[in-house]
Amino acid sequence: MSIFGVDCVSSDKDLFWRGQPQVRNSDLDCSCGKATSLMTADLVEKKLITTTQLRDNVFKYTKRVSIELSNLCNYAGLHKKCPLSLENQHIILSKKVVQKVLDCLGRYNFEGTIAFHTYNEPLIDPRLFSFVCYAKEKCPQSCIMIMSNGYYFNQTLADELVELGVGSIYITTYGQREHERLSKIKVDIPYVIQEGILDDRLNLYCRKHSGQENYRPCYAPLGEIIIARDGRVNLCCLDWKREHCFGDLHTENLEDVILQSEMVNVYNLLSNGKRIFNICKACGWSR
Ligand code: SF4
Repeated sequence: MSIFGVDCVSSDKDLFWRGQPQVRNSDLDCSCGKATSLMTADLVEKKLITTTQLRDNVFKYTKRVSIELSNLCNYAGLHKKCPLSLENQHIILSKKVVQKVLDCLGRYNFEGTIAFHTYNEPLIDPRLFSFVCYAKEKCPQSCIMIMSNGYYFNQTLADELVELGVGSIYITTYGQREHERLSKIKVDIPYVIQEGILDDRLNLYCRKHSGQENYRPCYAPLGEIIIARDGRVNLCCLDWKREHCFGDLHTENLEDVILQSEMVNVYNLLSNGKRIFNICKACGWSR
């Protein structure tokens, strides 16, 4: 099977890349999100998963599912380096799709993290509390994470989110005064305040490749599933143009997208250090 011109695994028989030597298991920890070392293409045994292995639990390798509730953020106009600053149409993900994703996670008793952001600000969405409740009802063992720019965050909201069952809160701050204000809020769950740094991801698609191959494994496609505001399942959070999507949840179920699209094959490629897309060659990240 070929994805975008790259040969991929099509069955259990093809568990190793053709022509690649088997060397050591220890070079690559294939459990989700745990790359134990940098790897070179010639030295590492390739560990590939098949859709058959996922039939019992399609989220076996998934640590986090992020549902981007909209493309709305109160800082979009201020942060010119943020992809949202380029958007002039408001897009809101329908409740039907959000619930469909949470229902699917519930069917597999998902125990990882559920978040409601990617580029949006979740605290401005009036539906957030009801989605948190729905997620807790469907996936009681999961950890609900809120990541926010903190503009609307205060003690009242902190108390109510904790009462609702949110498991962790991450705030990205922009400015010393905001940082000091947010530091005074008492939160009884993991609460992290970090300084916001806007990187140059806007230029990621046209960044010149250094010429040096990057073989670092990335586990993003299954490790952190991104549901974009248009209902499509995205490659990763960096793919802000959504050039590499796996399916549309308006018409498909998440488990079908995982099992029937190219998602697992792309995961196998990236998790074995084969950066097939230009964005992956340029990003330098490993999720
Ligand atoms: S290699 Fe970079 S761009 Fe590609 S999936 Fe991973 S984080 Fe995203």
